[in-house]
Amino acid sequence: MRITALAGGVGGARFVRGLLHELREVRGDDDTQVTVIGNTGDDITLFGLRICPDLDTLLYTLGGGINEDQGWGRVGDTHTVQGELAALGAVPQWFGLGDADFATHIARSQWLGQGHTLSEVTDRLAARWGLPGQGVRLLPATDTPIETHVVLDDGEAGERAVHFQQWWVQLQAAVPAKRFTVAGLAQAAPAPGVLDALRGADVILLPPSNPVVSIGIILGVPGVRDALRGSRAPVVGVSPIIGGAPVRGHADACLATLDVEVSAVGVAGLYADFLDGWLVDDADAATTRGLRAQVRTLDLRMRDINGAGRIAGAALDLAADLAADRTPGPTA
Ligand code: GDP
Ligand code: CA
Repeated sequence: MRITALAGGVGGARFVRGLLHELREVRGDDDTQVTVIGNTGDDITLFGLRICPDLDTLLYTLGGGINEDQGWGRVGDTHTVQGELAALGAVPQWFGLGDADFATHIARSQWLGQGHTLSEVTDRLAARWGLPGQGVRLLPATDTPIETHVVLDDGEAGERAVHFQQWWVQLQAAVPAKRFTVAGLAQAAPAPGVLDALRGADVILLPPSNPVVSIGIILGVPGVRDALRGSRAPVVGVSPIIGGAPVRGHADACLATLDVEVSAVGVAGLYADFLDGWLVDDADAATTRGLRAQVRTLDLRMRDINGAGRIAGAALDLAADLAADRTPGPTA
């Protein structure tokens, strides 16, 4: 079987790690290949280094090197370099970068500078973290540099655009975003393998990633949304919103900018043109009448790997049922 998942950072990575646990440990399935298409809209250049926060969170989480408490960065990392940068007065200082994490960004920047594509660089990093041995391929959504920017209302001074990371990390999304704009997106090409991974998949999964600034950016890469609409595989998603609030992060602020209700139903609406199955939390069971996608309810909190695996398993079961419904039965 071939599974393709679209993913942002923490929510996406924890879900995919659970999916692998469910496949390999619970179901004893060592054959299924998992392709993860990662968001690159969060990417930023700091201190001359190219940083890809969502790809790195996926790499560290799947490779067993993540700082579990934070959800991002390396476990046990030190901050000598950042401390020295601060002493030098080098800015910004609001973006946390550990020493081992710095090595990732140095290597990536060196390889990009030598002319390698982000896909090629990501392959090398994935080898470091043992993804191929787990039957996982990690693809950036696009090799074209893109950056999500947030337009803020500065009152009489007019509008001001800041990088997504500045809004998210420094401003904690507390300043309302007027709109999001993604530099480079309209001209971006899907990375090699992205469209094939969608067209050739048996199951397409949408983890509970941010629907606007993670999944929404991947969907905006020209060709990706059409590939989902035209896919023969069932598309099954997991709601990142439980009981009208995000589990972590500021997805509520992102949805408000789009005038979309902060609810499992609101998020499903963003995927309405291709979504076949939708997992919502028990807390939201009563709200989903009228959705075209087939809905199942369960506890959607990924408390640990087993819990995330259970949710991934429910997504696979729903996909299997949807696929069976599509297969024409034997004719009499
Ligand atoms: P980011 O790039 O690190 O912000 O991570 P993602 O875009 O992958 O995921 C962020 C989303 O994951 C947020 O909207 C959260 O609500 C959602 N999320 C995080 N943990 C959980 C969980 O345990 N269950 C569910 N259903 N959603 C979660
Ligand atoms: Ca992200």
